[in-house]
Amino acid sequence: NPSASFTNLGETERNRLYASLKESYDAYKLRGMKLDMSRGKPCPEQLALSKGMLDLLTSSDPLQAEDGTDCLNYGGIDGIPEAKRLFSRLLGVSEQEVIIGGNASLNMMYDALARAMLHGVYGSETPWGKLPKVKFICPSPGYDRHFAICEQLGIEMIAVDMLEGGPDMDQVEKLAGEDDAIKGIWCVPKYSNPDGITYSDETVDRLASMRTKASDFTIFWDDAYTVHHLTDEPDPLKPILAACKAAGHPNRVYLFCSTSKITFPGSGVAAMASSEANVSHIRKHLSAQTIGPDKINQLRHVRFLRDIDHIEAHMKRHADIIKPKFDRVLHKLEASLGGKQIAWWNKPNGGYFISLNTLDGCATEVVRMAAEAGVTLTKAGATFPYGKDPRNRNIRIAPTFPKLEELETAIDILCLCIQMVSLTKLQG
Ligand code: PLP
Repeated sequence: NPSASFTNLGETERNRLYASLKESYDAYKLRGMKLDMSRGKPCPEQLALSKGMLDLLTSSDPLQAEDGTDCLNYGGIDGIPEAKRLFSRLLGVSEQEVIIGGNASLNMMYDALARAMLHGVYGSETPWGKLPKVKFICPSPGYDRHFAICEQLGIEMIAVDMLEGGPDMDQVEKLAGEDDAIKGIWCVPKYSNPDGITYSDETVDRLASMRTKASDFTIFWDDAYTVHHLTDEPDPLKPILAACKAAGHPNRVYLFCSTSKITFPGSGVAAMASSEANVSHIRKHLSAQTIGPDKINQLRHVRFLRDIDHIEAHMKRHADIIKPKFDRVLHKLEASLGGKQIAWWNKPNGGYFISLNTLDGCATEVVRMAAEAGVTLTKAGATFPYGKDPRNRNIRIAPTFPKLEELETAIDILCLCIQMVSLTKLQG
């Protein structure tokens, strides 16, 4: 039985199976391949969907925003009006609550947290960096680059579990309610990196309304995958800013997003949003940082993406390219590992990742063995604070960039490695 649970195999069967798996694995090793499934990047076909945007502006264009702003010149600290309008629709806030940034939302997140360390947020009594300790709640597995920002700024990270509807809110409420050194939480609320989880309405409401010991507790709401659906029935996400206002905490949340995976990761447009009070506080600080971001890129993007309906149609074309890749990975995982009780994975409705858990203690060895056969995976542990997965089991699969055939081979190798490492582990 090819899908029998590995735990029920006798020793002879295990040895025989291991030998045959090793034979296939060694054959792959001899092929000397180089396959990369480590980073969630769009593939060239996806990038081509937006190349037409580059032809929309020419030297004969007046290059003026709708309020007459000359996009070639200085000015416009927080973006041109039409860009604010477009992003306000994406983030479910008003135009007055948006700040347009440069090409990367990660940059805006870093700056927002660095400013909080240097100056505090609106309403802080003390700059966070002047306090003896600053801590952040980090739902895990999560996005490694969020954790890298905390590590670099000396912010202590506290991992909390991800459950089906988002972070374990019992843990979050307890932590935030008891410790005033805890100043915030990282959230990827839709199609989370890497689990593909979308926060439930209850999670959004509890985050918005929970009692926090620190009065300037701030939710970093990274809505990176807000329109990145893989199905015709997208996960709904309750708007957090409205929920925070309704709960009497209008200044609790900073939202972020970008067009990195809508147009070009190298030259998209990023934005953040928050209450008007927060936005005006941030704008004041920003004016010391810059005279303003790239307005030509904003203009190009607004003319290309136009409105939410056009963005949705554009994202469907992305899905047409990447959904077959997700499907192939999921099919292969099921065919090779289904029923064996050695690996469990999510089936996301959107986003960029498939998150897989091995038996406890196996992830590092699986990633090492895959690398030896030419498959680069995200480093084991990378999805946890300090790069330490306490159960050493999470592996992040990024299916979008490789070609379908390469992806198939890479997953075959990954499945061989998981089975071999699991057999060794079960052997004790
Ligand atoms: N946030 C999340 C959750 C991501 O997964 C990524 C990229 O993988 C980013 C942010 C990066 O966004 P940007 O390109 O806007 O900096």
